[in-house]
Amino acid sequence: MELIDIGANLSHDSFDIDRDAVLQRAREAGVVQMMVTGASREHSPKALALAQAHPGFLFATAGVHPHHASEYTAECDAEMRTLHAHPEVAAVGECGLDYFRDLSPRPAQRRAFELQLRIAADLAVDGVGKPLFLHQRDAHVDFMGVMKEFDGKLGPAVVHCFTGSRTELFDYLDQDWHIGITGWLCDERRGAHLRELVPHIPADRLMIETDSPYLLPRTVKPQPSHRRNEPMYLAHIVEELARDRGEDVAATAASTTATARAFFRLD
Ligand SMILES: [Zn+2]
Repeated sequence: MELIDIGANLSHDSFDIDRDAVLQRAREAGVVQMMVTGASREHSPKALALAQAHPGFLFATAGVHPHHASEYTAECDAEMRTLHAHPEVAAVGECGLDYFRDLSPRPAQRRAFELQLRIAADLAVDGVGKPLFLHQRDAHVDFMGVMKEFDGKLGPAVVHCFTGSRTELFDYLDQDWHIGITGWLCDERRGAHLRELVPHIPADRLMIETDSPYLLPRTVKPQPSHRRNEPMYLAHIVEELARDRGEDVAATAASTTATARAFFRLD
């Protein structure tokens, strides 16, 4: 089984003590490639450094999460553009809107989101923009509105860590966007509605991610005492996803891997 984790925050401080062991355990668990999420001014360069240190195994995204939108200055925009010149940076993001926690003012969130979509559009090759790694929580209407401003100028987009409603899911699929599914699905209570929705996602729009070190799947038994999630647990997500979709695990693994390779242009 070959799996691709499209969202792992491997530059997170909690991995500083044993990052190489974490990568080794991931390989042993069938994870063949990973996208290291860049989600701030501080961590996007670290994500690139990790990808450069592990060519062909790790790739990076570069972006500023809506929680950090207040730091999105002109200098920050220039830094992001410099990062995107590197071939190891496969997507723009994590970027988007988060009105659930509102850690940055909403106007700042919208502005940072727009400026990053502008980068993705500016980096278009043959009219196809750079892939987008998107975050949306409790901001669906504004999120759709900002994306609409760039209609026809953007490349493929994935709404990562999807936990939303049926309406949100079909709005995204109607736009031909991709969906990233995390261990949220493995929570028998919080993930119940999601389990009913995942059979509706076409295989060529569906990818998996741990969002490590967050969102430890509840199906990991026994639960590690430190509660840190890591990419080796990706198998728990694909197993639950396959069960909910009525597929063989091998089929779901193969299709999500093929979709990720095509989406991030990994070949
Ligand atoms: Zn996110």
